[in-house]
Amino acid sequence: MSRPPQRRTKIVATLGPATDDIATLTAMIVAGVDVVRVNFSHGSSEEHTERVNRVRQVASQVGRNVAILGDLGGPKIRIERFAEGKVYLDAGQDFALDPAYDPEAGTAKIVGVAYHDLPRDVRAGDVLLLNDGLIVLEVTSIRDTRIHTRVVEGGELSDRKGLNRKGGGLSAGALTAKDRADIRIAAQLGVDYLAVSFPKNALDMHEARTLLRAAGGAGLLVSKIERAEALDHLAEIIKASDAVMVARGDLGVEVGYAELTGLQKRIIGEALDQDRAVITATQMMESMIYHPVPTRAEVSDVANAVMDGTDAVMLSAETAVGKYPVKTVMEMVNIIQGAEKWQVGYARNRQREDGMFERTDEAIARSVMYAANHMPIRCIIALTESGSTTLWMSRIRSDIPIYAFTRHEATRRRVALYRGVQPVAFDVVETEPALLYSVIFHLLLDLGLADEGDRILLTKGELSGVAGGTNSMKILEVRR
Ligand code: PGA
Ligand code: MN
Repeated sequence: MSRPPQRRTKIVATLGPATDDIATLTAMIVAGVDVVRVNFSHGSSEEHTERVNRVRQVASQVGRNVAILGDLGGPKIRIERFAEGKVYLDAGQDFALDPAYDPEAGTAKIVGVAYHDLPRDVRAGDVLLLNDGLIVLEVTSIRDTRIHTRVVEGGELSDRKGLNRKGGGLSAGALTAKDRADIRIAAQLGVDYLAVSFPKNALDMHEARTLLRAAGGAGLLVSKIERAEALDHLAEIIKASDAVMVARGDLGVEVGYAELTGLQKRIIGEALDQDRAVITATQMMESMIYHPVPTRAEVSDVANAVMDGTDAVMLSAETAVGKYPVKTVMEMVNIIQGAEKWQVGYARNRQREDGMFERTDEAIARSVMYAANHMPIRCIIALTESGSTTLWMSRIRSDIPIYAFTRHEATRRRVALYRGVQPVAFDVVETEPALLYSVIFHLLLDLGLADEGDRILLTKGELSGVAGGTNSMKILEVRR
């Protein structure tokens, strides 16, 4: 096994045509991708299956634990396809949207829409935003199924781009018929995380969880915060989720992008307070779709998400269809490391003082962080079944590495998302404590994770094999 990377914030990369080449995918994973995202909005189930298999093959070849995140398309309204794959729209020109139009034959004058009620939902004067707000259309009139618009902001427009109405209120119920079918595919693929798009409230999350479990899937649930209504139910949605995504693309369109930065901090803070993981997504390295270096604004955006306390930063089109998928991951690693250096000063002061612990393992996890942040500790080792001890630990801001020692591959992939947590394959075969510690010390020394004489913190349960059984903490000195 290779030495885990010394970087706390994790990277989620979206798979797509640009990552299908095995050499590219391998280089991306070696460069630092922790979680891959399979986007059910694009591609067939055969493509998704192939991509997931390829990731598993590469991950095992290079000895890395890579989690798989399936992302449901949700009730996002999308335009259909263009005969040429894309068109260019000029400001001032007329452009029509029509759900009855041939879905494969869009032109620079008209394109189909995959939402039949759109002509009934919109009024003349409404502003429609396409492709995360890059293209702006103003509705001039509606005749039968055809929505006539004038292009306010033009540009390139390609197949299946999303459509929002300024101010929100267009999207229908959270889980579409396609989502329900995709949940079954996600269960078959054995995804580690399943993201639900556009949830309005906790019920949407409960429903997705129930469907995934019924289909035999054990994945954790991620809520994408991306519609105005979700902000009114933020606490309950987060409570109903295992992880949260700050889905800045749609959220920015619905609430207006001026509020996004504040909302990002609020959502990340609320997720951490509720002991949930959190991913910051969309346009983080957008210019790298076409260029080999990021803009200073993108550098700053990624660094600020790290400083806000996000578990992971996400790449979408940058890796799925970008020109420089590997370089983008490398640049992101570089920015994360640069940002984390500046956190050292206040890395050890975030300790919770109020609230009660509900569980023994939670109390142990918190106590460990208190001790670790107040004495010289090289690293924390959690012997864990489900990984939840390490999630609690990683909610407390710290710069001390947390290693999730577990025999379960699924747990190793799950914790790959958690900030500051690195999975290590480890089976507890020694029951005699002195022998067990000695095996752990040798593994740490071999992996270069600790030196002789270092102090480490270890958590474990009385019996191995019991999830939630962590009930003790040991402070040990590494010896050969
Ligand atoms: P999407 O979600 O990429 O599936 O639209 C993320 C976002 O809206 O930011
Ligand atoms: Mn979205």
